Amino acid sequence: MLTEAIAAGGSSLRDHRQATGELGYFQHAFRVYDRDGAPCPTPGCTGSIRRITQSGRSSYFCATCQH
Ligand SMILES: [Zn+2]
Repeated sequence: MLTEAIAAGGSSLRDHRQATGELGYFQHAFRVYDRDGAPCPTPGCTGSIRRITQSGRSSYFCATCQH
C-alpha cells in the first residue's frame, strides 16, 4: 500500500484529503507504520502505537483500543 501511494503521487493524497474533508485512511496508515510509539490515530483514543513481531512479521497496534 505504501508503494502504491508513492506511485500515485502526492497530488493523489491531497485530492483525497480535499474530497473527504479529513485525513483519510492513507494518512492514518502512514502514521501507524512510521514509528513505534506514535499517537493512536483512532478518534478519541489516547493510546499509542506499539510494534510487535510474530513469526518474523512486524505488526502495529494500539494497546488501548487494539486497532
Ligand atoms: Zn487506540
